[in-house]
Amino acid sequence: MDHFLYRDGALFAEDVAIADIAAAVGTPFYVYSTATLLRHFHLFDEALGGMDHLVCYAMKANSNQAVLRTLAQAGAGMDVVSGGEYLRAKAAGVPGDKIVFSGVGKTAAEIRLALEGGIRQFNVESEPEMIVLDATARAMGVTAPISIRVNPDVDAKTHAKIATGKSENKFGIPIARAREVYAMAAAMEGLQIIGIDVHIGSQLTDLEPYRLAYQKVAELTEILRADGHTITRLDLGGGLGIPYARSNEAPPLPTDYGKIVRETLGHLDCEIEIEPGRLIAGNAGLMVSEVIYVKEGEGREFLILDGAMNDLIRPAMYDAHHDIIPVVEPAPGTEQSPIDIVGPVCESGDTFAKQRLMPPLSAGDLVAFRSAGAYGAVMASEYNSRPMIPEVLVHGDQFAVIRARPTFDEMINRDTIPSWL
Ligand SMILES: *Cc1c(COP(=O)(O)O)cnc(C)c1O
Repeated sequence: MDHFLYRDGALFAEDVAIADIAAAVGTPFYVYSTATLLRHFHLFDEALGGMDHLVCYAMKANSNQAVLRTLAQAGAGMDVVSGGEYLRAKAAGVPGDKIVFSGVGKTAAEIRLALEGGIRQFNVESEPEMIVLDATARAMGVTAPISIRVNPDVDAKTHAKIATGKSENKFGIPIARAREVYAMAAAMEGLQIIGIDVHIGSQLTDLEPYRLAYQKVAELTEILRADGHTITRLDLGGGLGIPYARSNEAPPLPTDYGKIVRETLGHLDCEIEIEPGRLIAGNAGLMVSEVIYVKEGEGREFLILDGAMNDLIRPAMYDAHHDIIPVVEPAPGTEQSPIDIVGPVCESGDTFAKQRLMPPLSAGDLVAFRSAGAYGAVMASEYNSRPMIPEVLVHGDQFAVIRARPTFDEMINRDTIPSWL
């Protein structure tokens, strides 16, 4: 459920009309709902109720400072995957002991940054990383708390670009080698083993892969404990999917996910960490765009929008579906006809939807892309020299620009001309 609903024929974000935001900030723009963000966070928090746990929001999904602060104030920790994200989390007021650092390519500089600022744990993804982490921590005279990310070799049944838990993926160490790698870690003075980490992929719409992975984590916990390691925390990753096409998708609920966690791992007396990103931010955001032209092509019509692939790349990158709805609600019984919905960028890949059934629209009308709150603004670029679009946060009947659209001068002046030109 989200807080983007029609009221008297006009699309609202909570108590603010989308058309009013468009008039104030111009199109295209992203808009996020505070109530929806918090609702999704609390769903997870409650799903793990009764277990010692921390929900660490995977901030790569949407790392705007205002979004982070909203979640941090509700008690969320953060899962970060770069030094930049670490600093963003700190800047939003997240204490170091609620930040976990994931990612296959942490540099020594990034590791130092996190050790200096405080960190809950590093999720270590390889032996070479472990060696650098150990050396960096020792050089600083500290110990680095770690979980080792194991790759359970389960098929997450999701898009190939976002599946991470098969043995052919670059993530984690093979679970079959876990004992050996934990033994290596235990012998390193700069490291302190805390637990086990697993993350099998993103946009999972089936809970079975989680059950399989978590059963393997449970077995591994017992084995590692028998080997003499102290395992007190299990990081279970993120990846729960959201319904992008509302008419025909029903992804699993956090409560059912929570049940699986309890069933597979509840007996181990471990603190549970989860790292949801998409499910917290995805349906908490829209991208709003204006129709520039309706173009008659050869046998098909094109709806040309002012938003493009550089603003929302998911359709081009993952063949992703986004529901696209008019900001003015069509009258009941309005006939829909198929149309290709495209942006102005000079690539055929700049297509949001092909032959999508839409009500009649004309230049100047506004449309909203649903489920654009995660992996939307954070993946945007200035391709075609299109300025990054603004982000707006709604809270009840208030709204605020939380990232302004740069001016053309600001965009151009970031380049510098070398002395020889
Ligand atoms: C991307 C990622 C997540 C979040 O995935 P979602 O599908 O957005 O929930 C969590 N943990 C790690 C390690 C990730 O790389």
